[in-house]
Amino acid sequence: NYDTKVAVKGNDEISALGNAFNLMSTKLFQVDDRRKKFVSNVSHELRTPMTSMKIVADTLLSQEHWDEPIYREFLGDINMEVDRLNKIIDSLLYLAKIEKDELELDLSVTYVNYLIEKVIKTIKPIATKKNIELTFNSQSKIQINLDQEKIQQCLLNIVGNAVKYTPEGGLVVLSLIERKDEIVINVTDNGIGIPEKDLPYVFDRFYRVDEARARKTGGTGLGLSIAQQIVQLHQGSIEVTSEVGRGTIISIILPKI
Ligand code: ADP
Repeated sequence: NYDTKVAVKGNDEISALGNAFNLMSTKLFQVDDRRKKFVSNVSHELRTPMTSMKIVADTLLSQEHWDEPIYREFLGDINMEVDRLNKIIDSLLYLAKIEKDELELDLSVTYVNYLIEKVIKTIKPIATKKNIELTFNSQSKIQINLDQEKIQQCLLNIVGNAVKYTPEGGLVVLSLIERKDEIVINVTDNGIGIPEKDLPYVFDRFYRVDEARARKTGGTGLGLSIAQQIVQLHQGSIEVTSEVGRGTIISIILPKI
């Protein structure tokens, strides 16, 4: 229990010390609170697929006759839940590695254009299936020092989201801008958007604006946390602007290191 406030009066050094102590105890309390919430979220996230699998397995076991199409369908459901669990666990392990400073950057001078084109090539089939136009506007080739694999992962998460949260027939546009000391990659979609009240939390672990929709589309709620961690490892930042029903812009700002 960190709720041990010191009564502070006056302006001398002792009261300054008391104020510092109060600030520290508040911060410690917040960290502890976040840790508790995180543990309870992880448990919930892991339990949900387990519960579904248990129900499906029990139902299958209680069948008196082997009806192949039904068995196939149910086994397919179990398989999907196992994939989901694997995805969550992989993402959690990745985040833990970043937090423990175990993930080092493997920097190399890279044409950002090519990296973006590679990501577009990977996501194009999914976009085409939804009849979403996925394009990239860039006037000039820009080279910076970055960890190709990690930035590619970050872009895959963000562009993947843009396609996921944009209805059929929509538009996802990537652009690359060069400034004096940094570059900016904007991922713009004309999808469902994010309510203003949710914006401060979208980078939090397991945060989803619409839980049911995110689950249906295979979301883990960890994609943006990972993207943000990767960008921060590069001393960069991610910004989000959005309007419900109009779309979202995610900006990745990377310094020229
Ligand atoms: P998920 O795996 O659920 O997509 P993320 O961490 O990638 O998790 O994103 C967190 C939440 O932010 C999503 O569940 C979704 O509600 C919202 N979100 C992210 N990107 C977009 C976007 N381009 N348009 C609308 N909502 C988005």
